[in-house]
Parts: sequence; C-alpha cells; structure tokens
Amino acid sequence: MNFDIEKIRADFPILNQKIYGKDYIYFDNGATTQKPIQVINAVSEFYSSINSNIHRGVHLLSEKSTKAYEDVRAKVQKFINAEHEHEIIFTKGTTDSINLIAFSFGEKYVNKGDEIIVSAMEHHSNLVPWQMLCQRKNAKLKIIHFDKNGELETDKINDLITDRTKLLAVTHISNALGTINPVKKIVQLAHNKNVPVLIDGAQAIQHTIVDVQEIDCDFYVFSGHKIYAETGIGVLYGKEKFLNEIPPYQGGGDMVDHVTLEKSTYLDLPFKFEAGTSNYVGAVSLGIAIDYINEIGLNKIAEYETELLNYATQKMQAIEGLTIFGNAKNKASVISFLLKNIHHYDAGMIIDKMGIAVRTGSHCAQPVMTYFDITGTIRASFAFYNTKEEIDRFIEAILKVKQMFD
Ligand code: PLP
Repeated sequence: MNFDIEKIRADFPILNQKIYGKDYIYFDNGATTQKPIQVINAVSEFYSSINSNIHRGVHLLSEKSTKAYEDVRAKVQKFINAEHEHEIIFTKGTTDSINLIAFSFGEKYVNKGDEIIVSAMEHHSNLVPWQMLCQRKNAKLKIIHFDKNGELETDKINDLITDRTKLLAVTHISNALGTINPVKKIVQLAHNKNVPVLIDGAQAIQHTIVDVQEIDCDFYVFSGHKIYAETGIGVLYGKEKFLNEIPPYQGGGDMVDHVTLEKSTYLDLPFKFEAGTSNYVGAVSLGIAIDYINEIGLNKIAEYETELLNYATQKMQAIEGLTIFGNAKNKASVISFLLKNIHHYDAGMIIDKMGIAVRTGSHCAQPVMTYFDITGTIRASFAFYNTKEEIDRFIEAILKVKQMFD
C-alpha cells in the first residue's frame, strides 16, 4: 500500500538506535507510543520561546501560551468531532478523566442501591474508579462478560440494565485482547433505556477514526501519550448537558470566578474542570501529534496496522504451542499470547535481549487473566511505524525462546 514507511520511521529518533547491539524493535505501543521529532522539537521550541503560564497574564508570552493551549482544544474538538469546543476538558490522561467522571457524575447522580455497568475486559483504570464509587455510595457494580474469543456478550446488556442503572462504562478497544467493541451499538442499547455511556478510548484514539457525535457516547476519554504526544496530558470529552450538571472534581486556581473566604463561584465549561496549572505544554504536544496523524491519515494508519496484525497473526498461529488470547473478529493491532510451558516473564526477558520490546504481565487487566486462568501474557502491540521485517525478526525470536526451553 501507499505508505512511506522509511520517511515515517525517520521521524522517530528512538527507533533508529541499537539495543543490545541490534536494531531496536518497539512492540510495546499499547503501553505508550514513541514521539515523532515534530512533537519533540515543538516542545523544545515552546520552552525556548513561548513558555508562560496560561490564562493569567496580560503579557505577550502568556497570551501566546494561552492561545496555543486553546487552539489545541479546538483541534481536539475537530479531531473527535465534538459539537462544542467547551466539551473538551484537558486532564492528566485516561485514568484522570475516568476518575473525574466517577467522582463528579457519582456525586450528582449515584445513590444507594443504584447500579453502574462495566465490562469484564476493562483496564483497571475503567474498573477501580467505579468500584470506589460503588463503595462510597453503596451502589452495585454489574458486569458485561466476554466469551473465549474476547467478544463482549452485548446481547446480555439489555437484561443487565434496570431502572437503577446510572451509567455504563466500556472500553472501545481492549488493551489486553485487542477486541474492538461495537461501541455505537452499545450506546444505542444503553440510550434506549436512558443510560449514559462513557467510552475508554485509550487504545482506540490512535488506531481508528473517532466521531463522538456518530457514536453518540456521553463521555469519551483518552491519553496523549498513547497517540504520539507527551505523557501527563489527556482528554475528557463530555456532552455539554452532563458537564454543566455535574460538580467540579477539584478546586483551586483557574476554575473559579469569584472567591470569598466563605465560598466560591465557578467558571463555566471547560475551565470548571481544569483546576490548577494545566499541562499546557503537553496540550501543545498533543496538537502537534494530531497534525502529524492527520497528515498521514487515520484511515491509512488503520489499514496498515491491520495488515501488520494479519501478517503477524498468521505467522504466530503456525507456531506450535503458541496460544493467542483474544481472537475477536474485529481486532486492533494487539496480540496477547503465551508459549506452552514457558513463563511470560522468561519469554519477555529473552525477547528483550534480542532487542525487541514487548510487554509481559497482566496488562492492568487482571480480571481478563483470571477469566483465562493465567497470570499474564506476552503482548506485542504494533504502531504504523512498525514493519513486516520487524515482525519476521520477532517470529525468529519466539522460535529461539521455544528452542531454548525445549
Ligand atoms: N484504558 C486502557 C484501555 C488502557 O490501555 C490504558 C493504558 O494502558 C488506560 C486506560 C490508562 O491510561 P493512562 O495510564 O494513560 O491513564
């Protein structure tokens, strides 16, 4: 396909180095993505020429800083097709965004005996905050289970929803299994019964076009570092109606209108949810990362990553004793697997010595591991800067591990 991989790889300095004397292969993109030189340079240039705290000064650089930050809000709005710019709230990341909603939405709407629905394939980030909310409010957490292929049992959702259900939270793409969930359908099912939906887009935003109005979700969250931007910046999209209704999550500077010693009034959206100095440089990096992705095109990226996924899956399925966990029909470029009788840490360490970075463990999704009765997997997750040649070397590495243990 028409994809200038050499040009793309040249943009990512970290890929062009040797690890243990070998050309570095980075297959841990599910954990975090690498940064193009355009993002790295933009951050450096921002600190060298513009840096100033936002929203607080009349001096020129503060105004420039503020404009740069607010321009990214508009860019994110366009990127995910939100209706309003003020529906984009900057946070620290996915986890922070979910905790914000679990707290604020929970304060406003969740009472004793109410119910929250999550799926069994959630990252701990989209599970633990809801458990904490349910404990705080004496509410009940209900679970959408998945089958052995890693497909959600969406046909059970209707029965799970009752008149006590206050919110459904589900991941768009599973970080442990790669499953792409039918989020639009899930939202429709929930909305038929007037239940709002939060979607965890941490693994989707970098792989697929996200249109929040088309999905019609009420909240959509993601992290900048998963989409080639810096760490410490994230996004909470929320429908205006809900964001207006729910209380602020944190208090402090930048989110208040009038403050007396007794009480304060708050600013309107989006500032009501952005207490303290925001990570405005992180936001700038997110803007540059979005420009970078837009220039290549998410459609092209998705197509190429699917090609990598299919290529690797086919080769791995041919290896005796290798089991892939997560065989959904609709999958992102994530392959979780185990080699018979070989511990995932042992395999991961040997693969690392061959200059290939993969992730091992439970991938912050312990209930998924419990379902399969395993303690963890080896996970290879591909990005658009990876290549089939790298996958070939990865297959050789897997065969070498097998050979060593045989
Ligand atoms: N949700 C999913 C599906 C993830 O994969 C991750 C991170 O791996 C998170 C949430 C948490 O993201 P962060 O650590 O950036 O807050």
